[in-house]
Amino acid sequence: MTRSATETDLGRTRRARRIGRALTETHPDAHCELDHRNALELAVATILSAQCTDKKVNEVTPKLFARYPTAADYAGADRGEMEEMIRPTGFYRNKTNSLIHLGQALVERYDGQVPGRLADLVTLPGIGRKTANVILGNAFDVPGITVDTHFQRLVHRWRLTAESDPVKIEHAIGAMFPKRDWTMLSHRIIFHGRRVCHARKPACGACTLTQLCPSYGTGPTEPAAAARLLKGPRARDLAAAAGVDPVLVPVQAIRAEAP
Ligand code: SF4
Repeated sequence: MTRSATETDLGRTRRARRIGRALTETHPDAHCELDHRNALELAVATILSAQCTDKKVNEVTPKLFARYPTAADYAGADRGEMEEMIRPTGFYRNKTNSLIHLGQALVERYDGQVPGRLADLVTLPGIGRKTANVILGNAFDVPGITVDTHFQRLVHRWRLTAESDPVKIEHAIGAMFPKRDWTMLSHRIIFHGRRVCHARKPACGACTLTQLCPSYGTGPTEPAAAARLLKGPRARDLAAAAGVDPVLVPVQAIRAEAP
């Protein structure tokens, strides 16, 4: 489907909300994929997730969280021991630095607690605006839009904004949706990017957004070819939701880890 270059702002906002509703139906299981029980654990997991899959982070964190339950534990950690624990997540020296400095900053400035304000969070070592929004949305119930690589790619494919700066993207998309929806919208967009609308070969022929997406055809449109590209345990449900025969989804797709 081609979309007119003259789409009005109102028309674009309406289409964005339709996309939001379709994603709500497509991904009822959308959630923060980093396992955590509190704001500190989420901050730590988010730092570890840089250049690493959430699945790998989730394999490492149970032991890490048990060993370092408080900010003071991170502040006083033995560097070598921590490096070994988080080594599988990559860039483990830099990440160890960030975690120790994060613990120290929390102890020195925030009484060992993770603050619940964006302005405070972004002053902490290892925590940028994206991470801060993840923490606000998922540990403090403060609505936040998380502009990661999937989010950027998808809103560009949907031509909802031409901005390339993540903060400008955050504001542009935020203006189209009620604030209370921001956190879940972010999860759903990221879920769609990981399971359907991949960077290299999006599964256009097995996507629930074909009528709303001006980039339909970027990936294979033939149902069997597209069904093979779906990923994750709900791959067959995703095919069915898009009107594609679920048996076209191979077992490997269901087992495939969403990146
Ligand atoms: S139609 Fe294709 S490009 Fe558009 S959202 Fe679906 S998979 Fe992505």
